[in-house]
Amino acid sequence: MSCELTQRFVPGYMDGELDLVRTIEMEAHLKDCPVCAQKLENQQEVRFALRRSSLAYSAPAVLRDRIQSSLRASRWVGAQKRKFKWPSLHIWQWAGAVAALALFSFSGWQFTARLRAPSSDQRIAAEVFSSHVRSLEADHLMDVISTDQHTVKPWFDAKLDFSPPVEDLASDGYPLVGGRLDYIENREVAALIYQRREHFINVFVWPNPTGSNSTQPIESRQGYNFMRWSRGGFQCWAVSDVGAADLAKFVRLLENYNSSESK
Ligand SMILES: [Zn+2]
Repeated sequence: MSCELTQRFVPGYMDGELDLVRTIEMEAHLKDCPVCAQKLENQQEVRFALRRSSLAYSAPAVLRDRIQSSLRASRWVGAQKRKFKWPSLHIWQWAGAVAALALFSFSGWQFTARLRAPSSDQRIAAEVFSSHVRSLEADHLMDVISTDQHTVKPWFDAKLDFSPPVEDLASDGYPLVGGRLDYIENREVAALIYQRREHFINVFVWPNPTGSNSTQPIESRQGYNFMRWSRGGFQCWAVSDVGAADLAKFVRLLENYNSSESK
Protein backbone atom coordinates (compact mmCIF):
# COMPACT_ATOMS: atom_id res chain seq x y z
CA MET A 1 0.00 0.00 0.00
CA SER A 2 1.27 3.47 -0.89
CA CYS A 3 1.88 6.23 1.69
CA GLU A 4 -0.80 8.38 0.05
CA LEU A 5 -3.43 5.66 0.28
CA THR A 6 -2.39 4.77 3.85
CA GLN A 7 -2.76 8.38 5.03
CA ARG A 8 -6.15 8.69 3.34
CA PHE A 9 -7.35 5.60 5.25
CA VAL A 10 -6.02 6.72 8.66
CA PRO A 11 -9.33 8.17 9.95
CA GLY A 12 -11.19 5.05 8.85
CA TYR A 13 -8.54 2.87 10.47
CA MET A 14 -8.86 4.75 13.77
CA ASP A 15 -12.64 4.31 13.69
CA GLY A 16 -12.33 0.59 12.87
CA GLU A 17 -14.20 1.05 9.58
CA LEU A 18 -11.77 -0.73 7.24
CA ASP A 19 -12.28 -4.27 6.10
CA LEU A 20 -9.88 -7.01 7.19
CA VAL A 21 -7.71 -7.03 4.04
CA ARG A 22 -7.32 -3.24 4.07
CA THR A 23 -6.51 -3.31 7.81
CA ILE A 24 -3.75 -5.95 7.34
CA GLU A 25 -2.24 -3.96 4.45
CA MET A 26 -2.37 -0.74 6.54
CA GLU A 27 -0.69 -2.37 9.54
CA ALA A 28 2.02 -3.91 7.29
CA HIS A 29 2.79 -0.50 5.82
CA LEU A 30 2.68 1.33 9.20
CA LYS A 31 5.23 -1.17 10.63
CA ASP A 32 7.66 -0.42 7.81
CA CYS A 33 6.92 3.31 7.24
CA PRO A 34 7.80 5.65 10.13
CA VAL A 35 6.29 8.66 8.30
CA CYS A 36 2.83 7.12 8.08
CA ALA A 37 3.13 5.69 11.59
CA GLN A 38 3.89 9.18 12.86
CA LYS A 39 0.85 10.65 11.05
CA LEU A 40 -1.37 8.05 12.67
CA GLU A 41 0.11 8.77 16.09
CA ASN A 42 -0.45 12.54 15.65
CA GLN A 43 -4.08 12.07 14.69
CA GLN A 44 -4.67 9.75 17.64
CA GLU A 45 -3.15 12.32 19.99
CA VAL A 46 -5.37 15.06 18.57
CA ARG A 47 -8.40 12.88 19.10
CA PHE A 48 -7.50 12.04 22.71
CA ALA A 49 -6.70 15.69 23.38
CA LEU A 50 -10.06 16.80 22.08
CA ARG A 51 -11.88 14.24 24.19
CA ARG A 52 -10.11 15.23 27.37
CA SER A 53 -10.14 19.02 26.96
CA SER A 54 -12.78 21.55 27.85
CA LEU A 55 -13.46 21.72 24.12
CA ALA A 56 -15.41 18.48 24.48
CA TYR A 57 -19.01 19.48 24.97
CA SER A 58 -21.88 17.11 25.57
CA ALA A 59 -25.14 18.32 24.04
CA PRO A 60 -27.90 18.84 26.60
CA ALA A 61 -30.56 16.12 26.64
CA VAL A 62 -33.24 18.52 25.32
CA LEU A 63 -31.17 19.41 22.25
CA ARG A 64 -30.38 15.75 21.65
CA ASP A 65 -34.05 14.82 21.81
CA ARG A 66 -35.03 17.63 19.45
CA ILE A 67 -32.42 16.62 16.88
CA GLN A 68 -33.42 12.98 17.13
CA SER A 69 -37.14 13.68 16.78
CA SER A 70 -36.58 15.98 13.80
CA LEU A 71 -34.48 13.23 12.21
CA ARG A 72 -37.26 10.73 12.84
CA ALA A 73 -39.80 13.16 11.33
CA SER A 74 -37.76 13.71 8.20
CA ARG A 75 -37.25 9.96 7.86
CA TRP A 76 -41.04 9.48 8.20
CA VAL A 77 -41.80 12.16 5.57
CA GLY A 78 -39.25 10.55 3.28
CA ALA A 79 -40.84 7.14 3.80
CA GLN A 80 -44.31 8.53 3.01
CA LYS A 81 -42.99 10.20 -0.14
CA ARG A 82 -41.44 6.93 -1.22
CA LYS A 83 -44.64 5.00 -0.41
CA PHE A 84 -46.91 7.14 -2.63
CA LYS A 85 -46.40 6.53 -6.29
CA TRP A 86 -48.78 7.52 -9.02
CA PRO A 87 -49.80 4.28 -10.68
CA SER A 88 -48.24 4.07 -14.08
CA LEU A 89 -51.26 3.65 -16.32
CA HIS A 90 -51.71 4.06 -20.00
CA ILE A 91 -53.70 7.07 -21.15
CA TRP A 92 -56.75 4.93 -21.96
CA GLN A 93 -56.63 3.42 -18.50
CA TRP A 94 -56.66 6.92 -17.04
CA ALA A 95 -59.57 7.82 -19.30
CA GLY A 96 -61.44 4.75 -18.04
CA ALA A 97 -60.75 5.67 -14.43
CA VAL A 98 -62.00 9.23 -14.98
CA ALA A 99 -65.14 7.95 -16.75
CA ALA A 100 -65.83 5.48 -13.93
CA LEU A 101 -65.44 8.24 -11.35
CA ALA A 102 -67.81 10.50 -13.30
CA LEU A 103 -70.38 7.70 -13.59
CA PHE A 104 -70.06 6.95 -9.88
CA SER A 105 -70.65 10.59 -8.94
CA PHE A 106 -73.61 10.77 -11.31
CA SER A 107 -75.31 7.66 -9.87
CA GLY A 108 -74.50 8.98 -6.39
CA TRP A 109 -76.22 12.21 -7.31
CA GLN A 110 -79.23 10.37 -8.73
CA PHE A 111 -79.41 8.25 -5.58
CA THR A 112 -79.38 11.33 -3.31
CA ALA A 113 -81.93 13.02 -5.57
CA ARG A 114 -84.20 10.00 -5.11
CA LEU A 115 -83.72 10.19 -1.35
CA ARG A 116 -84.52 13.88 -1.33
CA ALA A 117 -87.75 13.44 -3.28
CA PRO A 118 -89.76 10.80 -1.38
CA SER A 119 -91.84 8.41 -3.43
CA SER A 120 -95.63 8.45 -3.23
CA ASP A 121 -95.50 5.40 -0.96
CA GLN A 122 -93.03 7.10 1.38
CA ARG A 123 -95.25 10.19 1.56
CA ILE A 124 -98.33 8.07 2.27
CA ALA A 125 -96.45 6.06 4.90
CA ALA A 126 -95.45 9.30 6.63
CA GLU A 127 -99.05 10.56 6.55
CA VAL A 128 -100.50 7.24 7.72
CA PHE A 129 -97.98 7.14 10.53
CA SER A 130 -98.63 10.69 11.75
CA SER A 131 -102.39 10.26 11.38
CA HIS A 132 -102.30 7.12 13.51
CA VAL A 133 -100.17 8.77 16.21
CA ARG A 134 -102.33 11.92 16.16
CA SER A 135 -105.53 9.87 16.50
CA LEU A 136 -104.18 8.22 19.65
CA GLU A 137 -102.74 11.36 21.20
CA ALA A 138 -105.35 13.97 20.39
CA ASP A 139 -108.24 11.86 21.69
CA HIS A 140 -109.75 11.84 18.23
CA LEU A 141 -109.62 8.15 17.52
CA MET A 142 -113.24 7.75 16.44
CA ASP A 143 -116.06 9.84 14.95
CA VAL A 144 -118.46 6.93 15.14
CA ILE A 145 -118.13 4.56 18.06
CA SER A 146 -119.64 1.21 17.36
CA THR A 147 -118.68 -2.40 17.39
CA ASP A 148 -121.40 -3.04 14.84
CA GLN A 149 -120.27 -3.04 11.22
CA HIS A 150 -123.90 -2.39 10.20
CA THR A 151 -123.68 0.97 11.96
CA VAL A 152 -120.19 1.90 10.87
CA LYS A 153 -120.60 1.12 7.17
CA PRO A 154 -123.72 3.32 6.62
CA TRP A 155 -122.03 6.11 8.56
CA PHE A 156 -119.09 6.05 6.08
CA ASP A 157 -121.41 5.72 3.11
CA ALA A 158 -123.19 8.93 4.17
CA LYS A 159 -119.94 10.89 4.61
CA LEU A 160 -117.79 9.68 1.74
CA ASP A 161 -118.14 9.49 -2.03
CA PHE A 162 -117.19 5.82 -1.86
CA SER A 163 -118.32 2.82 0.16
CA PRO A 164 -115.41 1.22 2.00
CA PRO A 165 -115.52 -2.45 2.93
CA VAL A 166 -116.19 -2.78 6.67
CA GLU A 167 -115.74 -6.10 8.41
CA ASP A 168 -115.84 -7.01 12.07
CA LEU A 169 -113.11 -9.43 13.07
CA ALA A 170 -114.19 -9.80 16.70
CA SER A 171 -114.42 -13.57 16.42
CA ASP A 172 -110.77 -13.58 15.33
CA GLY A 173 -109.66 -11.39 18.24
CA TYR A 174 -109.66 -8.07 16.35
CA PRO A 175 -112.97 -6.34 17.20
CA LEU A 176 -114.04 -3.33 15.13
CA VAL A 177 -114.50 -0.40 17.55
CA GLY A 178 -115.35 2.51 15.31
CA GLY A 179 -114.56 4.74 12.36
CA ARG A 180 -113.25 8.19 11.53
CA LEU A 181 -112.85 10.43 8.53
CA ASP A 182 -109.26 11.27 7.75
CA TYR A 183 -107.10 12.79 5.02
CA ILE A 184 -104.28 11.07 3.17
CA GLU A 185 -102.64 12.77 0.19
CA ASN A 186 -105.23 15.55 0.22
CA ARG A 187 -108.18 13.22 -0.14
CA GLU A 188 -110.79 12.03 2.27
CA VAL A 189 -110.29 8.46 3.38
CA ALA A 190 -112.03 6.03 5.69
CA ALA A 191 -110.17 5.19 8.89
CA LEU A 192 -111.42 1.97 10.45
CA ILE A 193 -110.36 1.35 14.02
CA TYR A 194 -109.81 -2.13 15.31
CA GLN A 195 -108.58 -3.28 18.66
CA ARG A 196 -106.12 -5.98 19.52
CA ARG A 197 -106.12 -6.36 23.33
CA GLU A 198 -105.08 -2.87 24.55
CA HIS A 199 -103.67 -1.78 21.15
CA PHE A 200 -105.46 0.03 18.36
CA ILE A 201 -105.06 -0.63 14.66
CA ASN A 202 -105.89 2.13 12.19
CA VAL A 203 -106.89 0.90 8.73
CA PHE A 204 -106.96 3.62 6.06
CA VAL A 205 -109.04 2.81 2.99
CA TRP A 206 -109.58 4.75 -0.24
CA PRO A 207 -110.54 3.78 -3.77
CA ASN A 208 -107.85 2.64 -6.17
CA PRO A 209 -109.81 1.30 -9.14
CA THR A 210 -106.74 0.75 -11.35
CA GLY A 211 -104.67 -1.04 -8.71
CA SER A 212 -104.26 -4.79 -9.02
CA ASN A 213 -104.52 -7.02 -5.97
CA SER A 214 -101.20 -7.10 -4.14
CA THR A 215 -99.78 -7.13 -0.63
CA GLN A 216 -96.52 -5.49 0.38
CA PRO A 217 -94.31 -6.92 3.10
CA ILE A 218 -94.62 -5.51 6.60
CA GLU A 219 -92.50 -2.45 7.46
CA SER A 220 -91.51 -0.92 10.79
CA ARG A 221 -90.98 2.65 11.75
CA GLN A 222 -90.39 4.13 15.22
CA GLY A 223 -91.99 1.20 17.02
CA TYR A 224 -95.00 0.94 14.69
CA ASN A 225 -95.71 -1.70 12.06
CA PHE A 226 -97.19 -0.93 8.66
CA MET A 227 -98.80 -3.04 6.01
CA ARG A 228 -100.32 -1.95 2.74
CA TRP A 229 -102.36 -3.94 0.28
CA SER A 230 -104.71 -3.56 -2.63
CA ARG A 231 -107.97 -5.53 -2.85
CA GLY A 232 -111.17 -5.17 -4.84
CA GLY A 233 -110.38 -1.66 -6.10
CA PHE A 234 -109.35 -0.29 -2.71
CA GLN A 235 -105.97 0.80 -1.42
CA CYS A 236 -105.55 -0.11 2.26
CA TRP A 237 -102.93 0.73 4.85
CA ALA A 238 -102.85 -0.73 8.35
CA VAL A 239 -100.69 0.79 11.08
CA SER A 240 -100.36 -0.18 14.73
CA ASP A 241 -97.98 -0.81 17.59
CA VAL A 242 -99.13 -4.44 17.79
CA GLY A 243 -96.47 -7.01 16.99
CA ALA A 244 -95.59 -7.72 13.37
CA ALA A 245 -97.06 -11.24 13.50
CA ASP A 246 -100.35 -9.94 14.95
CA LEU A 247 -100.64 -7.25 12.28
CA ALA A 248 -99.79 -9.64 9.45
CA LYS A 249 -102.48 -12.06 10.66
CA PHE A 250 -105.00 -9.22 10.90
CA VAL A 251 -104.26 -8.06 7.35
CA ARG A 252 -104.56 -11.63 6.05
CA LEU A 253 -108.04 -11.89 7.66
CA LEU A 254 -109.17 -8.56 6.15
CA GLU A 255 -107.81 -9.49 2.71
CA ASN A 256 -109.82 -12.71 2.75
CA TYR A 257 -113.02 -10.82 3.68
CA ASN A 258 -112.39 -8.15 1.06
CA SER A 259 -111.73 -10.58 -1.74
CA SER A 260 -114.71 -12.78 -0.88
CA GLU A 261 -116.87 -9.63 -0.86
CA SER A 262 -115.63 -8.39 -4.23
CA LYS A 263 -116.37 -11.73 -5.87
ZN1 LIG B 1 4.06 5.50 4.50
